Amino acid sequence: MSFSVLQDDLRALASYHLYSSSSANVTSNVTGSDTIASNIVENDDSITLAPDLSSEPQFSRKANATLVFLARNSDLQGVLKSMESVETHFNQRFGYPWIFLNEDEFTNEFKESVQLRTNASVQFGVIPSRHWYQPDWIDEGKAEQARNALKAAGVIYADSVSYRNMCRFNSGFFFHHPLLQQYRYYWRIEPDVDYFCQLQYDPFDYLKDNNKTYGFTIALEELGQTVTTLWQAVKEFMEQCPEYIHPNNALAFLSDNGGESFNLCHFWSNFEIADMDFWRGEAYTKFFEYLDSKGGFYYERWGDAPIHSIAAALFLDKTQLHFFNDIGYQHSSIMHCPQQPAFLTGSCTCNRVLSIDYRRYSCLPRYNKMLNGKW
Ligand code: GDP
Ligand code: MN
Repeated sequence: MSFSVLQDDLRALASYHLYSSSSANVTSNVTGSDTIASNIVENDDSITLAPDLSSEPQFSRKANATLVFLARNSDLQGVLKSMESVETHFNQRFGYPWIFLNEDEFTNEFKESVQLRTNASVQFGVIPSRHWYQPDWIDEGKAEQARNALKAAGVIYADSVSYRNMCRFNSGFFFHHPLLQQYRYYWRIEPDVDYFCQLQYDPFDYLKDNNKTYGFTIALEELGQTVTTLWQAVKEFMEQCPEYIHPNNALAFLSDNGGESFNLCHFWSNFEIADMDFWRGEAYTKFFEYLDSKGGFYYERWGDAPIHSIAAALFLDKTQLHFFNDIGYQHSSIMHCPQQPAFLTGSCTCNRVLSIDYRRYSCLPRYNKMLNGKW
């Protein structure tokens, strides 16, 4: 066996062993042959790997990525809960930096509490006003009427302006924040979410190595009243800018009739692992500007989830979308738990029976049909 083949085998073995471990203390350097060589203990005819038990994460393949958390000061308890879950299931081994964003200054209490929950670096950013607040050109009388009408219809967050600010910010601006400029990939985290499986690989590297752009865990139907005219605006954009529509797009995930109407399916954006260069690119920039000009964030209650999803489904090759089936995740009462035995090796603690995947309102069957021709 040549030395280079042996090295390759050892590298594979090292990554297998170390990724397979659920111990937060075991770190690895999967491509740095120096580190691997120093971890090898040779006894007679067998070679074993001695784990490097230093507490600092040492992934030489550390992606250009960050964990992004939009939050209010009042979200602190839920923020800490989510951080705990992300750190224990993933980030203690990987050490990706956290970025917290808010339209107000974070309090010292918030900053200090958050910093205590991670060994990774943490930054706190204030959102520029023009990226957050309702623009002047929105007719506030009309917006107020719309809020009242949605409230009368019993729609969640119907009369909240701040929720609309949040949806517009997440749709069009978070990736332009100065703190995020140096990063390409992000993982979005929200308060009060739970992760259930020890993640045994780096999802950012996974996206990069497999030419994926947008990763999700849960796909659902949107509340129709919040997006009454959204699809009309999308159709206008598609007519005006057909050059942005990918020939191998995922339109069949969004529409059951070839694009005539929206079936309300979207990826749930409270979890996203994705490539910000897509949001920063020409197609998405023009798309967001067009939708924003319609005022639907305020005259209706367009969510960032359908907007991200529609763009990803139309402008990307459908193979650039990725269902992170092996990431067990819960937000509010909705949970995705890995199903296939192959995905259970990561020691998931969720109950598969309760997974949303093939239940009412889940759009995963439509996603599967779109991608593989099978529900
Ligand atoms: P839901 O998941 O749609 O029910 O909405 P959330 O209340 O969880 O809000 C979505 C995300 O935006 C969470 O990360 C919240 O912390 C954040 N968020 C919502 N409203 C505001 C706000 O007014 N200011 C800030 N800074 N963050 C907000
Ligand atoms: Mn939430």
